[in-house]
Amino acid sequence: MIQQTQGSRLDIRGVNKFFGDFCALKEINLTIEPGELVCFLGPSGCGKTTLLRIIAGLEQQTAGLLHQGVTDISRKPPKDRDFGIVFQSYALFPNMTVADNVAYGLRSIGMPKPQVASRVSELLAVVGLEDHARKYPAQLSGGQQQRVALARALAPSPGLLLLDEPLSALDAKVRHHLRSEIRSLQKQLGVTTIMVTHDQEEALAMADRVVVMNNGVIEQVGTPLEIYQQPASAFVASFIGAMNFFDSAPVNGQRVRVGNRELDLVRPLPSDQSCVQLAIRPEDVHLLPNGDGEWEGRVESMDYLGAFIRTRVRLSEVELELVVDVDPRSARQLELQVGACVCLNLPSDALHC
Ligand code: ATP
Repeated sequence: MIQQTQGSRLDIRGVNKFFGDFCALKEINLTIEPGELVCFLGPSGCGKTTLLRIIAGLEQQTAGLLHQGVTDISRKPPKDRDFGIVFQSYALFPNMTVADNVAYGLRSIGMPKPQVASRVSELLAVVGLEDHARKYPAQLSGGQQQRVALARALAPSPGLLLLDEPLSALDAKVRHHLRSEIRSLQKQLGVTTIMVTHDQEEALAMADRVVVMNNGVIEQVGTPLEIYQQPASAFVASFIGAMNFFDSAPVNGQRVRVGNRELDLVRPLPSDQSCVQLAIRPEDVHLLPNGDGEWEGRVESMDYLGAFIRTRVRLSEVELELVVDVDPRSARQLELQVGACVCLNLPSDALHC
């Protein structure tokens, strides 16, 4: 039976990072609870790796404090912090066997030989590599090497597991498989985990909470559902999933005008706005037979994407093209085809301001 880890709480307060004049992280405040899996998600260059490296002590913050549990780790070197780390590039010792790679951290903390041996077999069993203990990294596939890296990082039972794009060098099938393996192992062990990724699907599938970053700031922290259904900014709305954006003019506190039509909103508008940007997910637009809906349009293109058909509809009354995701059965019922006239509704409860 694999040993449970006591996951630590991590507190990041007012962290800034400058590289020369360039500000890579601005005023980062974040608390990660014991046993959580949190993903840092954002476009290339947004600062997610820098933040992970600061947590590990591999990079020094310019300002701000970090606490792991009750310990102030702000100025501690990496060796005095309680974490295990897995990099994108596996970073295994090529001249050591799989077992020796996993044992490395245990030997360096002075664990007695018999305990090292039993901990190594325990970990190799957990990652499904018990038959590969005597092999060298070059004799393993990419996915197997990453499992070894994971076993090595987890061997000393760290309070914190840091994963820096651990799946991005793997092909799609292995990536999907390892994704769910890491998640179930992390839950089983209870180790507090931070994973850096630029893959939104990966973040939504794996994380308890997602930290969406852009230009060195945190745009939103929330559960995958909150991030997807209640994006806090236009950036989050456009970065996570597909979204239609269009402008409207306020009529009153909870009503806007788009072209000649008025739309009710579920939430009141902020006051003093002359223009309000609305957003709606492609799957939330209702496509209806011609004559049955509020808005009329023409199908411009249809892309079959397996589970749904991504359809572009050009509206007739306003200068607007909307992307609508239609399931193939509804598309057949609607006899949807390029050039067809259709109607659509924009449900109030699906509109974001
Ligand atoms: P990616 O997904 O491409 O790795 P990221 O979100 O992890 O991107 P970081 O690697 O954290 O981004 O980099 C954030 C910003 O800081 C980038 O603009 C990068 O060029 C800059 N940066 C990172 N490390 C250094 C460094 N050692 N010296 C100067 N600039 C740096």
